[in-house]
Amino acid sequence: MIKHLRSAADLDAATATLILDTAAEMAALSGREVKKLPALRGRTVVNLFYEDSTRTRISFEAAAKRLSADVINFSAKGSSVSKGESLKDTALTLQAMGADAVVIRHSASGAPHRLSNWVDGSVVNAGDGTHEHPTQALLDAYTMRSRLGRLDGLKVAVVGDVLHSRVARSNVLLLSTLGAEVTLVGPPTLIPVDIVAALSKTARVSYDLDSVLPDSDVVMMLRVQTERMQDSYFPSAREYSRRYGLDVTRMRKLPEHAIVMHPGPMNRGMEIAPEVADSPRSTIVEQVANGVSVRMAVLYLLLGGK
Ligand code: ASP
Repeated sequence: MIKHLRSAADLDAATATLILDTAAEMAALSGREVKKLPALRGRTVVNLFYEDSTRTRISFEAAAKRLSADVINFSAKGSSVSKGESLKDTALTLQAMGADAVVIRHSASGAPHRLSNWVDGSVVNAGDGTHEHPTQALLDAYTMRSRLGRLDGLKVAVVGDVLHSRVARSNVLLLSTLGAEVTLVGPPTLIPVDIVAALSKTARVSYDLDSVLPDSDVVMMLRVQTERMQDSYFPSAREYSRRYGLDVTRMRKLPEHAIVMHPGPMNRGMEIAPEVADSPRSTIVEQVANGVSVRMAVLYLLLGGK
C-alpha cells in the first residue's frame, strides 16, 4: 500500500480498485445502528485546513471518527505568517504530537508534497490550490461504479471551469487509470492550450456541450470558481449558462441511463439548473454520502488499520 495520497497519480489501477472495494465494505457499515469500527483506535488523524471547506472537512472528520481514531481539527485560516514558513512550523508541531495521518487542504498547489517531507505520518491531500483533490476523484469513481456498474469504457464529460478545477485534474488522472474515457468541455478560455497539451494523452477536449451530451454516460458539472478568477473568462454569467450550463432541455439530450454529478458547492442557476440538480439523475447527495465511505477506506488502508 502507498504511504501518502497526494495526487491521483499516486494510484495504480489495483490500488484504486482496492480503495473502492474497501469503501463498499465501509458503506455497509453506515447502514448499521452503531457506525463505528475499532480499526484505528489509538491512532491520531489531524485535519489541517488552510482553506474553506464544508463537505470535505466534515467528511474526513466523520470518516476518522467512525474508525475510532483520535481526531484533531486545525483550522489555520487567517494565519498571517507567510505560507511556506507557517506550514513548516505547523508540520513540526504535528510531528512532535505524533500525528499518524495529516489531512491537508491548502490554497497553494503542492503543499501536501512539501508537508510529506516534514512529517513521518501519512499525508492525504484534501485539495491543494488548483492542483488536485484525489479523494474527490475516488468518491466520484465510486459513485459512477455504484450507479452504472463499471468504470472501464465509461464516457465521462467533465464540464466547465477546468482551468481552476482540482476536481477535474484528479478525475482525469484517476478515470484514465481505471479505463474511462474523459472529455473536457468548456469555453476555450477555461480550457487553455497548455491544459489541452498536458492532458492530451488522457482526455479529449470539446468546446461544444450539446454535441458531447448524447454520447455521455456521466456528465460532471464543475463549479465556476469566481474566487480564483482575476480576469474575465466569459462575457457574463448568463452567457456562460446559455452555452455551458446544464438545464432541463440540455439534460434531455443525455442517454436514458446517464447520470449528472457535481462536486459541490453548486452555483445553482449558473453551471447547473436547480431542476437538474434535484432530478433523479443527479447523484450530488450520494456523492457526499459516498465521500465518507471512501475517506474511511483511504485512512484505513494508508494507516494499515486492523
Ligand atoms: N469542493 C471542491 C473543491 O474543493 C469543488 C469546488 O470547490 O468547486 O475543489
